[in-house]
Amino acid sequence: MDRYVVIGNPIAHSQSPFIHQAFAEQTGQVLSYERLLLPLDNFAGGLADFVQQGGFGCNVTVPFKTDALAVADVLSERAMLAEAVNTLKVQEDGRLFADNTDGAGLVMDLKRLGVPLAGQRILLLGAGGAARGVMGPLLAEQPAALIVTNRTHARAEELAKRFAGLGPVSHQPLEGLHGAFDLIINSTSASLQGERLSLPASLCHSNTRVYDMMYGKEDTPFMCWAAEQGVTHRYDGLGMLVGQAAESFYLWRGVRPEMEPVMQALRARLEQER
Ligand code: NDP
Repeated sequence: MDRYVVIGNPIAHSQSPFIHQAFAEQTGQVLSYERLLLPLDNFAGGLADFVQQGGFGCNVTVPFKTDALAVADVLSERAMLAEAVNTLKVQEDGRLFADNTDGAGLVMDLKRLGVPLAGQRILLLGAGGAARGVMGPLLAEQPAALIVTNRTHARAEELAKRFAGLGPVSHQPLEGLHGAFDLIINSTSASLQGERLSLPASLCHSNTRVYDMMYGKEDTPFMCWAAEQGVTHRYDGLGMLVGQAAESFYLWRGVRPEMEPVMQALRARLEQER
């Protein structure tokens, strides 16, 4: 059976096996997909063992996305731009192809939700790995402005500089954020830690939409802040998670799975786990 894994540390929480097994069932593909926990100091060795044992491909998550970049033989343009890799495929010639599907997953989900992107003013909170992965695909949708802000301001500044050639990107310090936005995306892990970002009410207008990359929780501090500002269009990152997986699945198998039934099944599963 064609073998795939998701590699991380920790990895027990990953929903990727559930998603990919559902995709495989839906599309009639015969494959196995499991979790692979690797020691923090031996990503390359663990991956080499997996490939040697006949592995076909893998997803890579925290904290190995830059390690995956380093071991790749061939990089997609979006992985190169993001300087982070979440998908590896063993090519027929044995070389490792590396991609980053996070941004495609986010944009796919925003389009599915009917969120306009072209001509919009977008605020991106955070400048970590997830932010790096989504900036290129967001700029490709031709927003009027993409402003990045981060707790450590120098990282936002650096990101804005790196992507400046791709569109109207700039940065603002987190304290002192100003202007109103059509879409606010939270890519910080503050929600994960239950921490509240200090954001001014003036960021929202009557039709602002918000997206929290954290998934499966509608009452994160960021979502609660948005609700307090009267924002009614609030979305979590579950569709992004399924979207990036669908893009990886397509890269490996050449078949595009349907996202909607898998999203519904995953949401029900997360509800049950709570
Ligand atoms: P990183 O660790 O690479 O980056 C974390 C970011 O959050 C940094 O910008 C960091 O700022 C900021 N941050 C952390 N804590 C706080 C805080 N208390 N207040 C303000 N800013 C804070 O993580 P990732 O970018 O990989 O992931 C970020 C989030 O996105 C996670 O919640 C993750 O689960 C989610 N995610 C969801 C995906 C999906 O498919 N739905 C895909 C990928 C990620 P600083 O630079 O100052 O440290």
